[in-house]
Amino acid sequence: MVSSKTETANSDHPTFELTHPTLLDCPSCGTFVSAKDLDMVKGLGQCSQCAHTFDISQEIKKDPLRRPEIIMPQGIEMLKLRRSLELVVDWYHATPKRGIIGLISGSFFWNLLLIPMIIWMALSGHFLMLLFFSGHVVTGALLLLYLTAKLFNKTRITVGSEGIRIEHHPIKTPWNRSQFIGKDSIQQLFVSRYRERLQPKSKKTLEAYALSAVLSNNKAIELVRGLNKETQLYLEQEIERYLGIQDEVVPTEIDRTR
Ligand SMILES: [Zn+2]
Repeated sequence: MVSSKTETANSDHPTFELTHPTLLDCPSCGTFVSAKDLDMVKGLGQCSQCAHTFDISQEIKKDPLRRPEIIMPQGIEMLKLRRSLELVVDWYHATPKRGIIGLISGSFFWNLLLIPMIIWMALSGHFLMLLFFSGHVVTGALLLLYLTAKLFNKTRITVGSEGIRIEHHPIKTPWNRSQFIGKDSIQQLFVSRYRERLQPKSKKTLEAYALSAVLSNNKAIELVRGLNKETQLYLEQEIERYLGIQDEVVPTEIDRTR
Protein backbone atom coordinates (compact mmCIF):
# COMPACT_ATOMS: atom_id res chain seq x y z
CA MET A 1 0.00 0.00 0.00
CA VAL A 2 1.46 3.31 -1.10
CA SER A 3 0.38 6.57 0.40
CA SER A 4 -0.49 9.36 -1.94
CA LYS A 5 -3.29 11.46 -3.36
CA THR A 6 -5.01 14.73 -4.11
CA GLU A 7 -3.74 16.80 -6.96
CA THR A 8 -3.24 20.42 -6.21
CA ALA A 9 -3.87 22.34 -9.37
CA ASN A 10 -0.98 24.73 -9.86
CA SER A 11 1.89 25.15 -12.33
CA ASP A 12 3.34 22.63 -14.77
CA HIS A 13 4.50 20.44 -11.95
CA PRO A 14 1.65 18.66 -10.32
CA THR A 15 2.39 17.89 -6.70
CA PHE A 16 0.67 15.21 -4.70
CA GLU A 17 -0.27 15.44 -1.09
CA LEU A 18 -0.31 12.24 0.86
CA THR A 19 -3.81 12.24 2.25
CA HIS A 20 -4.95 8.66 2.28
CA PRO A 21 -3.63 5.17 1.61
CA THR A 22 -3.69 4.34 -2.10
CA LEU A 23 -3.13 1.19 -4.10
CA LEU A 24 -1.24 1.69 -7.35
CA ASP A 25 -0.61 -0.94 -9.98
CA CYS A 26 1.44 -0.53 -13.14
CA PRO A 27 -1.08 0.17 -15.96
CA SER A 28 1.09 -1.85 -18.36
CA CYS A 29 1.88 -5.09 -16.53
CA GLY A 30 -0.23 -4.83 -13.37
CA THR A 31 2.71 -5.13 -10.95
CA PHE A 32 2.28 -3.35 -7.64
CA VAL A 33 4.21 -0.07 -7.66
CA SER A 34 5.83 0.93 -4.40
CA ALA A 35 6.30 4.46 -3.06
CA LYS A 36 10.01 4.71 -4.03
CA ASP A 37 9.06 4.40 -7.71
CA LEU A 38 6.73 7.38 -7.58
CA ASP A 39 8.06 10.84 -8.42
CA MET A 40 5.59 13.09 -6.62
CA VAL A 41 7.06 16.31 -8.04
CA LYS A 42 6.82 15.26 -11.68
CA GLY A 43 3.67 13.28 -11.02
CA LEU A 44 5.13 10.23 -12.72
CA GLY A 45 5.55 6.67 -11.65
CA GLN A 46 7.90 4.05 -13.10
CA CYS A 47 7.28 0.33 -12.86
CA SER A 48 10.22 -1.62 -11.39
CA GLN A 49 9.13 -4.69 -13.32
CA CYS A 50 8.66 -3.46 -16.91
CA ALA A 51 10.06 0.11 -16.69
CA HIS A 52 6.77 1.54 -17.99
CA THR A 53 6.34 5.23 -17.07
CA PHE A 54 2.86 6.47 -16.24
CA ASP A 55 0.94 9.51 -15.02
CA ILE A 56 0.16 9.07 -11.31
CA SER A 57 -2.93 11.31 -11.46
CA GLN A 58 -4.55 8.96 -13.98
CA GLU A 59 -3.77 5.81 -12.00
CA ILE A 60 -4.93 7.30 -8.71
CA LYS A 61 -8.44 7.57 -10.17
CA LYS A 62 -8.53 3.77 -10.44
CA ASP A 63 -7.73 3.33 -6.74
CA PRO A 64 -10.46 1.02 -5.40
CA LEU A 65 -10.33 2.71 -2.00
CA ARG A 66 -10.91 6.18 -3.31
CA ARG A 67 -14.43 7.44 -3.55
CA PRO A 68 -15.06 9.52 -6.63
CA GLU A 69 -15.85 13.17 -5.96
CA ILE A 70 -19.58 13.50 -5.24
CA ILE A 71 -21.22 16.50 -6.84
CA MET A 72 -23.81 18.33 -4.77
CA PRO A 73 -27.14 16.48 -5.05
CA GLN A 74 -30.53 18.19 -5.26
CA GLY A 75 -31.96 19.43 -2.00
CA ILE A 76 -28.74 20.55 -0.32
CA GLU A 77 -27.70 24.09 0.43
CA MET A 78 -24.15 24.66 1.54
CA LEU A 79 -22.74 27.77 3.13
CA LYS A 80 -19.01 27.93 3.80
CA LEU A 81 -18.18 30.65 6.26
CA ARG A 82 -14.87 31.53 7.82
CA ARG A 83 -15.74 29.90 11.12
CA SER A 84 -18.22 27.28 10.09
CA LEU A 85 -19.66 25.10 7.40
CA GLU A 86 -23.42 24.95 7.18
CA LEU A 87 -25.32 22.27 5.27
CA VAL A 88 -29.09 22.31 5.00
CA VAL A 89 -30.77 19.21 3.61
CA ASP A 90 -34.35 19.12 2.40
CA TRP A 91 -35.82 15.71 3.33
CA TYR A 92 -38.27 15.64 0.44
CA HIS A 93 -35.53 15.99 -2.18
CA ALA A 94 -33.16 13.68 -0.34
CA THR A 95 -35.68 10.83 -0.05
CA PRO A 96 -36.11 8.38 -2.93
CA LYS A 97 -39.46 9.10 -4.63
CA ARG A 98 -40.52 5.46 -4.20
CA GLY A 99 -40.28 5.99 -0.46
CA ILE A 100 -42.48 9.07 -0.51
CA ILE A 101 -45.10 7.33 -2.66
CA GLY A 102 -45.01 4.25 -0.43
CA LEU A 103 -45.47 6.38 2.66
CA ILE A 104 -48.35 8.33 1.15
CA SER A 105 -50.24 5.20 0.13
CA GLY A 106 -49.36 3.42 3.38
CA SER A 107 -50.55 6.15 5.71
CA PHE A 108 -53.53 6.97 3.48
CA PHE A 109 -54.98 3.45 3.52
CA TRP A 110 -54.09 2.82 7.13
CA ASN A 111 -55.85 5.96 8.29
CA LEU A 112 -58.64 5.79 5.71
CA LEU A 113 -59.83 2.47 7.14
CA LEU A 114 -59.13 3.40 10.71
CA ILE A 115 -60.72 6.82 11.15
CA PRO A 116 -64.36 5.84 10.28
CA MET A 117 -64.02 2.80 12.54
CA ILE A 118 -62.81 4.88 15.45
CA ILE A 119 -65.58 7.42 15.00
CA TRP A 120 -68.14 4.63 14.89
CA MET A 121 -66.69 2.91 17.96
CA ALA A 122 -66.60 6.15 19.93
CA LEU A 123 -70.14 7.14 18.95
CA SER A 124 -71.63 3.73 19.60
CA GLY A 125 -69.86 3.33 22.94
CA HIS A 126 -67.65 0.35 22.04
CA PHE A 127 -64.87 1.63 24.26
CA LEU A 128 -63.28 -1.75 24.88
CA MET A 129 -62.97 -2.20 21.13
CA LEU A 130 -61.54 1.28 20.93
CA LEU A 131 -58.88 0.31 23.45
CA PHE A 132 -58.13 -2.79 21.40
CA PHE A 133 -57.46 -0.58 18.38
CA SER A 134 -55.26 1.91 20.21
CA GLY A 135 -52.09 0.26 18.83
CA HIS A 136 -53.38 0.82 15.32
CA VAL A 137 -54.15 4.43 16.15
CA VAL A 138 -50.58 4.98 17.35
CA THR A 139 -49.23 3.36 14.17
CA GLY A 140 -51.46 5.53 12.00
CA ALA A 141 -50.30 8.65 13.81
CA LEU A 142 -46.65 7.63 13.46
CA LEU A 143 -47.09 7.02 9.74
CA LEU A 144 -48.60 10.46 9.33
CA LEU A 145 -45.83 12.00 11.42
CA TYR A 146 -43.20 10.24 9.31
CA LEU A 147 -44.81 11.33 6.06
CA THR A 148 -45.20 14.95 7.18
CA ALA A 149 -41.56 15.00 8.30
CA LYS A 150 -40.45 13.59 4.93
CA LEU A 151 -42.38 16.30 3.11
CA PHE A 152 -41.50 19.33 5.21
CA ASN A 153 -38.43 18.68 7.35
CA LYS A 154 -34.97 20.08 6.91
CA THR A 155 -31.78 19.00 8.60
CA ARG A 156 -29.28 21.69 9.44
CA ILE A 157 -25.72 20.54 10.02
CA THR A 158 -23.34 23.13 11.42
CA VAL A 159 -19.67 22.16 11.45
CA GLY A 160 -17.42 24.47 13.42
CA SER A 161 -14.24 24.41 15.44
CA GLU A 162 -16.21 22.92 18.34
CA GLY A 163 -17.75 20.04 16.48
CA ILE A 164 -20.85 19.03 14.54
CA ARG A 165 -24.32 20.22 15.47
CA ILE A 166 -27.28 18.49 13.86
CA GLU A 167 -30.81 19.85 14.09
CA HIS A 168 -34.04 18.78 12.42
CA HIS A 169 -36.86 21.26 11.82
CA PRO A 170 -39.78 21.79 12.11
CA ILE A 171 -41.03 18.30 13.02
CA LYS A 172 -39.39 16.35 15.84
CA THR A 173 -39.30 12.62 15.18
CA PRO A 174 -38.09 9.86 17.50
CA TRP A 175 -35.76 8.46 14.81
CA ASN A 176 -33.82 11.62 13.98
CA ARG A 177 -32.88 13.52 17.08
CA SER A 178 -30.93 16.73 17.27
CA GLN A 179 -27.44 16.26 18.64
CA PHE A 180 -23.99 17.70 19.07
CA ILE A 181 -20.71 15.81 18.72
CA GLY A 182 -17.46 17.39 19.85
CA LYS A 183 -14.76 17.68 17.19
CA ASP A 184 -12.13 15.84 19.25
CA SER A 185 -14.22 12.71 19.56
CA ILE A 186 -14.85 12.38 15.81
CA GLN A 187 -12.46 9.96 14.14
CA GLN A 188 -14.17 9.20 10.87
CA LEU A 189 -17.49 9.50 9.07
CA PHE A 190 -19.09 6.75 7.03
CA VAL A 191 -22.29 5.89 5.20
CA SER A 192 -24.09 2.58 5.75
CA ARG A 193 -27.15 0.94 4.30
CA TYR A 194 -30.19 -0.43 6.15
CA ARG A 195 -33.76 -1.44 5.32
CA GLU A 196 -36.57 0.91 6.23
CA ARG A 197 -40.11 -0.43 6.54
CA LEU A 198 -42.77 1.64 4.83
CA GLN A 199 -45.77 0.11 6.53
CA PRO A 200 -45.94 -1.65 9.86
CA LYS A 201 -45.75 -5.45 9.65
CA SER A 202 -45.36 -5.27 5.88
CA LYS A 203 -42.55 -6.97 4.05
CA LYS A 204 -42.15 -3.97 1.78
CA THR A 205 -38.92 -2.28 2.66
CA LEU A 206 -36.87 0.43 1.10
CA GLU A 207 -33.14 0.86 1.00
CA ALA A 208 -32.13 3.71 3.23
CA TYR A 209 -28.81 5.20 4.20
CA ALA A 210 -27.40 6.48 7.44
CA LEU A 211 -24.51 8.85 8.01
CA SER A 212 -22.57 7.80 11.08
CA ALA A 213 -19.45 8.83 12.94
CA VAL A 214 -16.77 6.65 14.50
CA LEU A 215 -15.89 8.20 17.86
CA SER A 216 -12.62 8.12 19.74
CA ASN A 217 -13.96 5.29 21.95
CA ASN A 218 -14.29 3.27 18.69
CA LYS A 219 -18.07 3.27 18.95
CA ALA A 220 -20.16 4.41 16.00
CA ILE A 221 -23.14 6.70 16.38
CA GLU A 222 -25.73 7.59 13.77
CA LEU A 223 -25.87 11.25 12.81
CA VAL A 224 -28.59 11.38 10.16
CA ARG A 225 -30.90 8.57 9.03
CA GLY A 226 -33.17 8.07 6.04
CA LEU A 227 -31.59 10.19 3.33
CA ASN A 228 -30.52 8.82 -0.04
CA LYS A 229 -27.03 7.54 -0.81
CA GLU A 230 -25.78 10.54 -2.82
CA THR A 231 -26.87 12.96 -0.11
CA GLN A 232 -25.21 10.98 2.68
CA LEU A 233 -21.97 10.51 0.71
CA TYR A 234 -21.92 14.21 -0.11
CA LEU A 235 -22.40 15.13 3.57
CA GLU A 236 -19.59 12.73 4.51
CA GLN A 237 -17.28 14.20 1.88
CA GLU A 238 -17.89 17.84 2.79
CA ILE A 239 -17.79 17.40 6.58
CA GLU A 240 -14.60 15.31 6.44
CA ARG A 241 -13.02 17.85 4.12
CA TYR A 242 -13.96 20.74 6.38
CA LEU A 243 -12.68 19.03 9.52
CA GLY A 244 -9.54 17.78 7.77
CA ILE A 245 -10.40 14.13 8.37
CA GLN A 246 -8.77 11.71 5.94
CA ASP A 247 -11.39 9.41 4.47
CA GLU A 248 -10.79 5.83 5.53
CA VAL A 249 -12.49 2.51 4.97
CA VAL A 250 -14.92 1.53 7.74
CA PRO A 251 -15.94 -2.17 7.71
CA THR A 252 -19.69 -1.54 7.97
CA GLU A 253 -19.83 1.17 5.31
CA ILE A 254 -21.30 0.75 1.83
CA ASP A 255 -19.17 -0.84 -0.86
CA ARG A 256 -16.53 1.42 -2.38
CA THR A 257 -15.98 -0.60 -5.53
CA ARG A 258 -19.42 0.04 -7.01
ZN1 LIG B 1 4.94 -2.71 -15.32
